[in-house]
Amino acid sequence: MVSNTRQEACRLLGGAKLRRTAGRLAVLSTLIEAGRPLTHEQIRARLAEAAPDKVTIYRILENFLEVDIVHKAFLRKRAWHFELADRCTARQCHPHFTCTSCNRTYCFTDAVLPMAKSPKGFTVHHQRVQLEGLCPDCNEGERKN
Ligand SMILES: [Zn+2]
Ligand SMILES: [Zn+2]
Ligand SMILES: [Zn+2]
Repeated sequence: MVSNTRQEACRLLGGAKLRRTAGRLAVLSTLIEAGRPLTHEQIRARLAEAAPDKVTIYRILENFLEVDIVHKAFLRKRAWHFELADRCTARQCHPHFTCTSCNRTYCFTDAVLPMAKSPKGFTVHHQRVQLEGLCPDCNEGERKN
């Protein structure tokens, strides 16, 4: 399992023509294993002793964003959550749903939305949609109360 993650990380770096440094492999493997968006701090915490220093992680994430293998999924408490871009298309990210009651955020990877119709003169390159509401657990709680 661990070696599969590493293979996948190597494949992604190779595809993006990024050098396979230990730091990049570590950060990318963490995002692959998590399977959900993580903040810079959460990546650092997961890597524990193996974590590169703060600035290096920022630089690595910037590299990943530039070559489009990682996306910024959503912003929470002034911290971006990063995730692999493999469940997005070039035109749009899968929507993220935040429960307004428990504050959890879910990836709606199967929800394909039509592209927003833009006013004349505007060109949309990328669509990133945020959804809000109640998750199944909180819906259940509402019904009981
Ligand atoms: Zn995306
Ligand atoms: Zn909820
Ligand atoms: Zn997501």
